[in-house]
Amino acid sequence: MIENMFSGSDVSEFRIWMGWADRYVILTHMGPDGDAVGSSLAFCRYLQSKGKQAVVLVPDSAPDFLKWMPGADQMKVYADDPDSAEDMVYKADVLCCLDFNVVGRIGKVAASFLYSKAKKFLLDHHPYPGANFDITLSHPEASSTSELVFHFICALGDFRMIDREMAECIYTGLMTDTGALSYNSNNSNLFMMVSHLLDKGIDKDDIYRRVYHNYSESRLRLQGFVLNEKMQVYPECSTSLITLTDDELRRFDYKKGDTEGFVNMPLQINGVLMSAFFREDNELGLIKLSFRSVGTVPCNRFSSSFFNGGGHQNAAGGEFRGTLQEAVNRFRQGLEEWSESQEDCIKQLFRK
Ligand code: 5GP
Ligand code: MN
Repeated sequence: MIENMFSGSDVSEFRIWMGWADRYVILTHMGPDGDAVGSSLAFCRYLQSKGKQAVVLVPDSAPDFLKWMPGADQMKVYADDPDSAEDMVYKADVLCCLDFNVVGRIGKVAASFLYSKAKKFLLDHHPYPGANFDITLSHPEASSTSELVFHFICALGDFRMIDREMAECIYTGLMTDTGALSYNSNNSNLFMMVSHLLDKGIDKDDIYRRVYHNYSESRLRLQGFVLNEKMQVYPECSTSLITLTDDELRRFDYKKGDTEGFVNMPLQINGVLMSAFFREDNELGLIKLSFRSVGTVPCNRFSSSFFNGGGHQNAAGGEFRGTLQEAVNRFRQGLEEWSESQEDCIKQLFRK
């Protein structure tokens, strides 16, 4: 049996809201990934099938490889029309916040979020949730927010209402946040859920192909360039760093989402326990940082200590305002500082 992960009072309170609330806006984080989009679209479709007015609002657009998802064509992008997006947020009865923990992660949507009188509902799996929510369902132990959406719909007593389209969205989020069930997924409950999703009619192999075998030729060549020329490996600290400048990205006709997964690749090297990827983003005027780690190495602590970022123990990120070279220097200083640490979870990086 699938266990109920939520407290009865939180579920009851949301059910009470559903008694009077008609207008729902589902918000998710900047640079929406498979889990952000998957969990949001699944929950939106669920609310719609309960007769509610529900819409997904993303701060910026999702990458093309997620555009096939059921309902993706109906998502509103804040950047496309900020006035009407803000209007929606103000007029909402309930704001459902999926796959982010703090308001800073929704970028320019944050101001209207903070001023809106709507009830605020958080359903998320990032540690350290902020304090801006009326109901906070924060489960860092969950593989993905999509998994939580499945459980939350079940807790509301509506397992039967999950249709194939919702199941596809949920599976996509689960798949992209676990590297197709290759990490963060040692949980029999999760496989029970996948079994239910298959019963709902998903074709998981086809979803895999739609997401991961959907590259342009230039994206694949960029990957070759990165591995051949841009990946630095530092065996003395079990770490790797990839950097890409705006010029390099242009050479390979960069499209949003093209660098997704690059940060994971160096972890395939025997002995590499932490990987970093820095991408120059001239449009945003910053360096976007991604970190990944293995086992007990806390890459979120590296990101928060040296870059004011955050995330999960094994998948974290952040932003750096400065040049790429300055970010690299900070990275090296961070490793230098960590090499003095007496904590086992950090010391393991520096063992020869
Ligand atoms: P990614 O490397 O896929 O962009 O992000 C991995 C994880 O790092 C995300 O799930 C999120 O938890 C966290 N993350 C990414 N970017 C940021 C950021 O700018 N600030 C913070 N605090 N966390 C981030
Ligand atoms: Mn997620």
